[in-house]
Amino acid sequence: MESQLVPEEQQTAGNGNCNKSKGGGDSVDRHCATCAILIPSDRVKKCGKCGRRAYCSRECQAIDWKTKKDEGKAHRSQGHSRWCGLSYGEEDLDWVVREKFDPSSGASLGLGVFAKRFFPSTTRIMVDTYHGHNFALSGDIIKDTFAIMEAVGPSKHLAHNCNSNASQILLKDLNDVMVIYSKRDILPDEEITINFLTYGDLLQSIVDPDTMYGPFLYSGCLETFADCRRILESRFNIICPSDCFCRDDEMDKLINASRKAMAALREKEDSLERNPRRLVVNIMMEDLQNLLKSMDKIGVSGMRKAIYLGLAWRLCVQQRKTLERSRQFVKEAYDIYLAILHPKSSDVKAAEMFLKYPEGYDRYLWFDR
Ligand SMILES: [Zn+2]
Ligand SMILES: [Zn+2]
Ligand SMILES: [Zn+2]
Repeated sequence: MESQLVPEEQQTAGNGNCNKSKGGGDSVDRHCATCAILIPSDRVKKCGKCGRRAYCSRECQAIDWKTKKDEGKAHRSQGHSRWCGLSYGEEDLDWVVREKFDPSSGASLGLGVFAKRFFPSTTRIMVDTYHGHNFALSGDIIKDTFAIMEAVGPSKHLAHNCNSNASQILLKDLNDVMVIYSKRDILPDEEITINFLTYGDLLQSIVDPDTMYGPFLYSGCLETFADCRRILESRFNIICPSDCFCRDDEMDKLINASRKAMAALREKEDSLERNPRRLVVNIMMEDLQNLLKSMDKIGVSGMRKAIYLGLAWRLCVQQRKTLERSRQFVKEAYDIYLAILHPKSSDVKAAEMFLKYPEGYDRYLWFDR
């Protein structure tokens, strides 16, 4: 489908009163979603379709709207045509990039991104562009790739925190889009932070570009915090304070145990494909419950958790006695999918379908038919 430009909204010059614009919202200064230039309130042009995303010019709107990369050109577009009308934060309305200062010395600590409103847990905060790399889905190449440093827009001002309140995920093949979403509740004026070292969080989509149907392949690394600190220091010149979240040795034990548990679960899942056994399912369910608890303590990204919530869901629907329990897993995964993925994506649709018609899953029961 050919993407088309929607007309810019005609704005009337501000006269000092708090005019409502046609697109909704008060008349305020904004930053261009493409070139980040400050636009005075009377010069703001907004996407005519959703009335939320702001531009300095028609050229910038055209760049932001398109979904195809220019050959050989570094692109700046996140393909707004795909995200238009979906809910997520907008610069200068929901969050702001500003300088921060050390409370004791008053020294500048550089720029940061701050929430202007309350973001409940698993809310999409920002959709941004990054310059793509040739990712390898495993091995050293991905470990050596810090896509966050290649962010094009405001997400490049997000600071690192080992116990971050938000996560980033790269959507590869979807115009190299980076989605920032809250991992827990974020209060107004709180700095929005991400963990730079969840760099492996990548969704490779094999989707129909128009309908968004198709599977998403997830990859990610779960490094120990000791490894993370080494990389943080050598790559970003960040040295964690002595009381940092990551300096608890129990955390690394938990991470190592989680990595083993994840590998074991994958192995058992493969064996189930060949030979469905109720005993194996029951053991996996117990291991999964423990793994999900550990993940909360470690503070893993939402998408990693969603992968294992999805596995718990698949296992629960195989026995009548656990069918009801699957609702809790689906609900939790659904919230995460909604924050990250397009509402038309197959994962979101599947979760919605289950929550609406759980009885339809009877045919998937392996046991107790
Ligand atoms: Zn612009
Ligand atoms: Zn729009
Ligand atoms: Zn740390």
